[in-house]
Amino acid sequence: MQNITVLGSTGSIGTSTLDVVARHPDKYRITALTANRQVDLLFRQCVQFKPAFAVLLDEVSVSQLRAQLVDAGLKTEVLCGVDALEAVCVLPEVDAVMAAIVGAAGLRPTLAAARAGKKILLANKETLVMAGNVFMDAVRKSGSALLPIDSEHNAIFQALPRGYDGDMAGNGVRRILLTASGGPFRNTPINELQHVTPDQACAHPNWSMGRKISVDSASMMNKGLEVIEAHWLFNAPANDIQVVIHPQSVIHSLVEYVDGSVIAQLGNPDMRTPIAYGLAYPERIDSGVAALDLFKVATLSFDEPDFGRFPCLALAYQALRTSGTAPAILNAANEIAVAAFLDEQISFLSIPRVIESVLNELPAHLVTCLDDVLGADTDARRAAKQQISKLIK
Ligand code: NAD
Ligand code: MG
Repeated sequence: MQNITVLGSTGSIGTSTLDVVARHPDKYRITALTANRQVDLLFRQCVQFKPAFAVLLDEVSVSQLRAQLVDAGLKTEVLCGVDALEAVCVLPEVDAVMAAIVGAAGLRPTLAAARAGKKILLANKETLVMAGNVFMDAVRKSGSALLPIDSEHNAIFQALPRGYDGDMAGNGVRRILLTASGGPFRNTPINELQHVTPDQACAHPNWSMGRKISVDSASMMNKGLEVIEAHWLFNAPANDIQVVIHPQSVIHSLVEYVDGSVIAQLGNPDMRTPIAYGLAYPERIDSGVAALDLFKVATLSFDEPDFGRFPCLALAYQALRTSGTAPAILNAANEIAVAAFLDEQISFLSIPRVIESVLNELPAHLVTCLDDVLGADTDARRAAKQQISKLIK
């Protein structure tokens, strides 16, 4: 029996995780569930999974959930705040942590789980983008098992040799081929992008996801963040990570070897596949995902990415090459710009403009500890807000 904490249980990845867990009550038990402030959904999840702990981020939501749990006669203890998120990751009885909070808020609890040596199912890519070396150091020191849940990285993990140690050349790996759907605006005329709405940006052709990552997919910043994520997970230099546009989202990524072999992982675009893989590794369990029907898919196509159409992708490569705090600055500026776009304060095309000016304004520093990252994150958020207020005037 594995005891699991799900960070961000009310989100897209969180609910898919609970869907897989519910199929295997003999294998997995939920110790803690956490959410920002979605009280009603968290309450229903508590009724179904009876965790020992639930965490919410503000006192009002905490009181509401406590009252609902008392009425229902449930014993789940409700905790409040960021420290509580860390606390439910490091409990001695917890075996695995699903890191599925969106954005920089996921960093501290995920890092706490790594320092405590827990098995980590990593969906929160922002942790690696912001603090790749700090996080990977913690994983190495504690001996945590790290299972990538992002579908592309899960595919690469499956296509690499078992026990891959970060030595690409030693394992005969030439390149990582990271697939991208191209999002909803792959073929939209560039002059129309100025006026696209948040709902249009969130209407992803293949995947159903939270709003922040949906906008990232539309701008291809998501793929940029994933290039940085792949760099840290697989110790791959930027030059050896090739983004491949693959609109069908059936091949989730590929690994190219020096002998010319290319190994891919395929499947329907449903996050329950990588989640089930991470939960059961090294075994396989049913995920509830329908079998892939290759006859229905019929055609797989591939294109080179257009950096002119998707400047966010170029900015992410640039930040990775600059290294140090540059990726943390990129990530923070992106979070602020995406939030402003979702609030209809700035246009879709202003997102890369804000990020680029923040990257130009703030010099990158070396990262030696978490505080370096958090300092860069704070500075970049402030700079991005200033840029946005200039645009709004
Ligand atoms: P989502 O918006 O659907 O859910 C986010 C979860 O985090 C919710 O439970 C929310 O309550 C919680 N949360 C939000 N802000 C918080 C805060 N400040 N403090 C604590 N908790 C907070 O997001 P999602 O689509 O499930 O994505 C989660 C993570 O997984 C992201 O990092 C995303 O990049 C990554 N990811 C998602 C998908 C996908 O298909 N959705 C695929 C690959 C990777
Ligand atoms: Mg992905």
